[in-house]
Amino acid sequence: MQIGCHVSISGSIDKSVDNAVERDCSAFQIFTRNPRGWNAKELVEQDIENFKGKLENSKIDRMAICAHMPYLPNLSTPKKDGFEKSVNTLISEVERCGKLGIPYLVTHLGSHLGTGEEEGIKRLVKGLSKAGQTKNDVKILLENSAGQKNSVGANFEQLAEIFNQLKPVKKFGVCFDTCHAFVSGYDLRTDKAVKETFSEFDDSVGIENLKILHLNDAKGEIGCNLDRHYHIGLGNIGEKGLGAVIKTVNKEKVPIILETPIDDVRDDFENIRIVKGLV
Ligand code: MN
Ligand code: MN
Ligand code: ZN
Repeated sequence: MQIGCHVSISGSIDKSVDNAVERDCSAFQIFTRNPRGWNAKELVEQDIENFKGKLENSKIDRMAICAHMPYLPNLSTPKKDGFEKSVNTLISEVERCGKLGIPYLVTHLGSHLGTGEEEGIKRLVKGLSKAGQTKNDVKILLENSAGQKNSVGANFEQLAEIFNQLKPVKKFGVCFDTCHAFVSGYDLRTDKAVKETFSEFDDSVGIENLKILHLNDAKGEIGCNLDRHYHIGLGNIGEKGLGAVIKTVNKEKVPIILETPIDDVRDDFENIRIVKGLV
């Protein structure tokens, strides 16, 4: 099993590897820069070398790490300047991942802001395809959404419809978030439910396109569309269901990343320990 969590790059980007090792991760996720702004400081050559060096010296497989897009881009937006900025950010992140040797970049699919799914998807496909022209080995992973109002890509068929329009195919893959799937109405609470949900995912998206799993319990009820992650086993999905998900994706050798909260109840160290105890 390759398992870890989202780790901070605070200080410098190579610190993320220290944070991952400290947490006993065999997989991890980062933001390559401050996720809350449009502008990114350029990567410094020394930081890139330190990041790669530390990774090399760790037991973590390079293919088990990923980066997540910053928060502001919206690839489905009808706003012209916003769309352009979003696509440029995506391209810049694909390039940054290339420099760092990170194989996967997870992106949200955005919001059509009330202009309708069809129009939103058209723009999204255009934006993703443009970024797909970037010449390196980084794959852009489409993350299933929680199904919030105006959002795109909560439902597996729609995710497949988007994915199947993207070219070149080798530049793209999918990231499955358990919290998002559950609050979008896909049951993951029992062995049987997990089997059914993943067979539905396989039938539409194709399990071979799954490159990263975000393992999060859900604060909300099934189908509530509320994007609130919770500690493993303490939310509405529960230990049993998440255990079955882990088993399913381990068969496919998909790295597992936790995006669980850090609060008085638990921290990353403990959530990771608990996941390891489930197998
Ligand atoms: Mn995400
Ligand atoms: Mn996620
Ligand atoms: Zn989420």
